[in-house]
Amino acid sequence: MTEQNTHFDIITIGSGPAGFTAAIYAARGGASAALFGGVAPGGQLLQTMEIENYPGFAGPVVGADLMQSMLNQASRMGAIIFRENITAVDLSRGPFALIAGSGKSYTAGSVIIATGAQARWLGLPSEQKYIGKGVSGCATCDGFFFRGREVCVIGGGDSAAEDALFLTKFASKVYLVHRRDALRATFRLQEKLRAAPKIEIVYDHVPEEFTGEARLTGVNFRNVRTGAVRRLETTGAFIAIGHTPATKIFDGKVNLDGSGYIVTDARMGTSVPGVFAAGDVMDTRYKQAVVAAGSGCRAAMEALLYLEEVKK
Ligand SMILES: Cc1cc2nc3c(=O)[nH]c(=O)nc-3n(C[C@H](O)[C@H](O)[C@H](O)COP(=O)(O)OP(=O)(O)OC[C@H]3O[C@@H](n4cnc5c(N)ncnc54)[C@H](O)[C@@H]3O)c2cc1C
Repeated sequence: MTEQNTHFDIITIGSGPAGFTAAIYAARGGASAALFGGVAPGGQLLQTMEIENYPGFAGPVVGADLMQSMLNQASRMGAIIFRENITAVDLSRGPFALIAGSGKSYTAGSVIIATGAQARWLGLPSEQKYIGKGVSGCATCDGFFFRGREVCVIGGGDSAAEDALFLTKFASKVYLVHRRDALRATFRLQEKLRAAPKIEIVYDHVPEEFTGEARLTGVNFRNVRTGAVRRLETTGAFIAIGHTPATKIFDGKVNLDGSGYIVTDARMGTSVPGVFAAGDVMDTRYKQAVVAAGSGCRAAMEALLYLEEVKK
């Protein structure tokens, strides 16, 4: 198979750990496999310098290096990697049709959607400056780096509450800052928050500015009722205001949940037989690279079985 081919047994859309793992398994399983990974393949891990919880590395691994290795591995297995986006899909009948950014059409016997999700940011210019330097979108990933430090979590839903509770394992103090006068988190989580001595809930405050030098040293919040500014001297700020799954082009083509995530069954299948989904695009809970990779493996194994079934 070469880049000239326009039909593949399995086409994977997305180039994070889920997509590359799916492509590795698809190609190694004997299928003709292609992966469309966008103009800069690699996914969310390109945004992080140190990954310490991906198995197989005794020391920290740089996100870009890990993703380049996955790309090389998929390529070595025989998957064709296209550095372009898929901009439209027709999943109404097989073979499924996909249009790439170049305008060229491709078809596939089975499709794996692994387009990921993006952590939502607040959108403040000072926030951008400190992403990876104290500002984080992932407590599970980065909490460990804040051992003995004061940190804040910004948000008021279940994720924010769970992040705050998780961070008490490392931080000396955790401020949970919410823009309203009540949290949206479930009652059970709110009880846990109240029982946690290290957590202080700060209501009615919105972040105005992230400040520091090379790294974050504090966050200025504005009280939405009084206008007064309160500064928290925290070296870590975790933004927990949700994720946006990359599912725009699949809306109306496969079932999505109320937040736009792809709904899958226990075998990674979507509402369309032969179309599977893996990684953060269908994962409303874990959002970890190793989980994404695992689900990419499952999706590819199911896609291979599906192709066997339709051949019979
Ligand atoms: C700053 C940061 C640090 C993190 N640190 C860790 C960590 O230490 N450990 C850990 O386990 N997890 C970490 N995570 C979470 C981890 O990155 C994600 O769980 C994981 O990357 C999800 O993988 P994925 O394959 O589902 O999708 P993603 O990584 O989101 O990749 C999806 C890719 O698909 C591409 N794509 C989207 N739409 C299309 C399309 N139409 N056509 C072609 N390509 C498309 C996107 O551009 C993207 O490159 C971190 C996340 C962030 C943001």
